[in-house]
Amino acid sequence: MSNVVPSPAQTIDGRKLAAALRVRLKNHVDVLLNDHKILPSLAVVLVGDDPASHVYVANKKKAAEKVGIRSSVHQLPRETSQDEVLKLLHKLNEDARTHGILVQLPLPKQIDTATILRAIEPAKDVDGLTVQNAGRLASGLAGLFPCTPLGCLALIKSVRPQLAGLHAVVVGRSNLVGKPMAQLLLRENCTVTVVHSRSRDLDALTRLGDIVVVAAGKPGLVTAAGIKPGATVIDVGINRAADGTLQGDVDFAAVARVAGAITPVPGGVGPMTIAYLLANTVAAACRQHELTQPDFSI
Ligand code: NAD
Repeated sequence: MSNVVPSPAQTIDGRKLAAALRVRLKNHVDVLLNDHKILPSLAVVLVGDDPASHVYVANKKKAAEKVGIRSSVHQLPRETSQDEVLKLLHKLNEDARTHGILVQLPLPKQIDTATILRAIEPAKDVDGLTVQNAGRLASGLAGLFPCTPLGCLALIKSVRPQLAGLHAVVVGRSNLVGKPMAQLLLRENCTVTVVHSRSRDLDALTRLGDIVVVAAGKPGLVTAAGIKPGATVIDVGINRAADGTLQGDVDFAAVARVAGAITPVPGGVGPMTIAYLLANTVAAACRQHELTQPDFSI
């Protein structure tokens, strides 16, 4: 039996990477304003009084303002009708000074999310959730893609710049995270396996991964038994424990003894998601003014 003790995984610092990206963004925003008189602008639509949504929106607004992006929050009461939201989206779509539109999810139950997402002008869809942008991602075209998977890809590339040929396993198949993550990894020439709630033998499937991205919303779902030694593990999950602390989908302490690199929760994917929302807003502003779309990838 080998008595070599495995070294603990490198913790990938999402706060530090996001701060570096914000510096690049701030420089770009300054150039847009000074040289082109363009002030990138983000409109956030928030319906109802979900406390978590209010915190997320406040964080996005603060982050936008820090890099010089103008942000406005359109706060509507919980009982707002679908037509009223559609009317607001129509106005924002037509407003030349608004470059990015984000509808904070979830929406109250009288409003159909798919109908609302369909109403967002794809060129302003900074969450990358319209069918047009999802199709562009799947077809290998340029577009606006979901912020969380963009952030995850940057986190992965910060420790593994060369991804071609690696086996990536994505746990989760939502339109917001799992599916676009799989598409982005395919674009990087990874071999991609998507695991979901109906998959059999989670551990055996995730153990195939040189890269494992977990976005299931199930605390402690992935344990050391599901990780190949040296793998890069990205934990997207945000779960609030009974004592109020945040927990990911990965058993951090145990997996860190096996993995090569791992993101913490909090301080991993969260800050990168917000940074890429800002990057998408700047990219959308550039495209709407027929300027070259900047590349904020790592
Ligand atoms: P979702 O509920 O829409 O999707 C969850 C996915 O996980 C589904 O596709 C489901 O098939 C899969 N799943 C559920 N149980 C499973 C199991 N036992 N085995 C394998 N797969 C399973 O959630 P989502 O919107 O994709 O978000 C996932 C998690 O990521 C949540 O905890 C969410 O809060 C978090 N999240 C974090 C950020 C961030 O910025 N850090 C952003 C978005 C989402």
